[in-house]
Amino acid sequence: MYKRLLLIIIIIIIIIILTECAHSNSNFLQSYLADWSAKFSDVPDILPTKQPIWDRPGVLESKAKVEANLASAYHRASFLAASCQHSGDWLFALPIASCELKLDDEAVRVAVGLRLGLYLCIPHQCHCGSPVDACGLHSFVCRKAPGRTARHHALNDLVVRSFASDGIPVTKEPSGLFRTDGKRPDGLTLVP
Ligand SMILES: [Zn+2]
Repeated sequence: MYKRLLLIIIIIIIIIILTECAHSNSNFLQSYLADWSAKFSDVPDILPTKQPIWDRPGVLESKAKVEANLASAYHRASFLAASCQHSGDWLFALPIASCELKLDDEAVRVAVGLRLGLYLCIPHQCHCGSPVDACGLHSFVCRKAPGRTARHHALNDLVVRSFASDGIPVTKEPSGLFRTDGKRPDGLTLVP
């Protein structure tokens, strides 16, 4: 009972403070509003109470500045990919080793480098004979890359688990099935 009363009092105090802030004529607030208005647009009559509404114009301006300075198509693609909604969700994954969610330092270095379009290695020649640039993207398409098969199976496994979690019967690498072009399917479902 005492805790609930204390909570109500705290909420009332916060509401009073926020209300006073919104209608304050303090020099700091007026100066901030004048700066914001000069930089972006007219300040609305009723001041928004949500911080993102104030931040958004500045964020968009910074984003446009960064985008304008991107020198290559690769860096532009990296920037656009990293800006997409949910593209950074993997950063919130808990590093639980038993669920294979714990990355070692080198894996984090490469993952962050790829996400930001950074240079990851010294240009060299791959053992397959192809040149590898500083971005290191050749390893994703190299037929002799050791991680290629592991990535294939990991991705296939992810798709299978997604179907299975929804109760759809699924089989990995079914035998005896071939497409008209001779390729073999990586998985089979009964639905659809
Ligand atoms: Zn190669």
